Amino acid sequence: MSKFWSALVSELQPYVPGEQPKMANLVKLNTNENPFGPSPKVIAAIQSELNDNLRLYPDPEGQALKEAIAAYHTDYGISSRQVFVGNGSDEVLAHIFQGLLKHDKPILFPDITYSFYPVYCGLYQIESDVIPLTESFEINPEDYKRPNGGIIFPNPNAPTGRYLGLEHVEDILKANPDSVVVVDEAYVDFGGETAISLVNQYPNLLVSQTLSKARSLAGLRVGFAVGNEELIEALNRVKDSFNSYPLDRLALAGAIAAFEDREWFEKCCGGVIEERERVTAELENLGFEVLPSKANFVFARHPSHEGADIAAKLREQGIIVRHFNKLRISDFLRITIGTSDQNSSLIKGLAFL
Ligand code: PMP
Repeated sequence: MSKFWSALVSELQPYVPGEQPKMANLVKLNTNENPFGPSPKVIAAIQSELNDNLRLYPDPEGQALKEAIAAYHTDYGISSRQVFVGNGSDEVLAHIFQGLLKHDKPILFPDITYSFYPVYCGLYQIESDVIPLTESFEINPEDYKRPNGGIIFPNPNAPTGRYLGLEHVEDILKANPDSVVVVDEAYVDFGGETAISLVNQYPNLLVSQTLSKARSLAGLRVGFAVGNEELIEALNRVKDSFNSYPLDRLALAGAIAAFEDREWFEKCCGGVIEERERVTAELENLGFEVLPSKANFVFARHPSHEGADIAAKLREQGIIVRHFNKLRISDFLRITIGTSDQNSSLIKGLAFL
């Protein structure tokens, strides 16, 4: 490769997703997927769409899905004009970084956090002011009261799993009336409270969510954002300049059915939460420090074993967890909550400690 091309390539620092190994019989606890699988009603809706409609283009606006999402949040008075839908929340976030964050001032996000944020900053040439978490790995709202071009953080945060109460989210919103504050709620359904309840009170708030976690549809790629109509209109304009058909017919049909099956959703979230509490207790019995989590994973470290070593020993037994080779958290493991059997295999696999 010529110097020119290699310089061009090396300037781009892409996001590195968790591994998706092909081997059978793995206990795969590394990418925060939901072990329960999607609602049978989702499968039926996709099947019927597959049989009938694949030759037709999808609705470029995904209007029926926006209406299903608004109806689901009817208690908060959300209309379909306040909903944006995209191909996974990663794409929704990409549009937010492109179109809604000011590029003439640094944007604020925590360190440690979702590693896609710095990647988008690199790609869209956005400066950032990265704010360390507190000693106990929490977001301190006081740190988000400085000039900025926008603010983004996951709640619960990833990979720590720590949740920031809505009163603190409001504190950040009130201190930043002229900035877009994005709350990335990929994991909110496992015990947190959604900030969608605040959208009609704070025009600077944008909440993004995904169907990949609580609704077990990581493979379908559906995410959405809720905010005031102007912010959503701005996102629609970014989308129309990028890809008119972000969601295909199968994704739209499956996602609508997912919002209609509240019972399945609640059962799966309850199951994950119950197992998370059991895994936390069992890890603590083995000597781990486990951060309090409101997500479908736990973030844990052992006082006398390196994170990388534990991950390697688990891997030899076919159990995959996530280790981040990053300063400050290199002793931690992020462990997705799996089925009861998978979680028991994990605990057995740690017997060498
Ligand atoms: N936000 C956070 C904090 C995440 O951890 C993830 C999952 N990797 C996403 C957003 C993206 O989820 P998806 O694109 O599957 O909707």
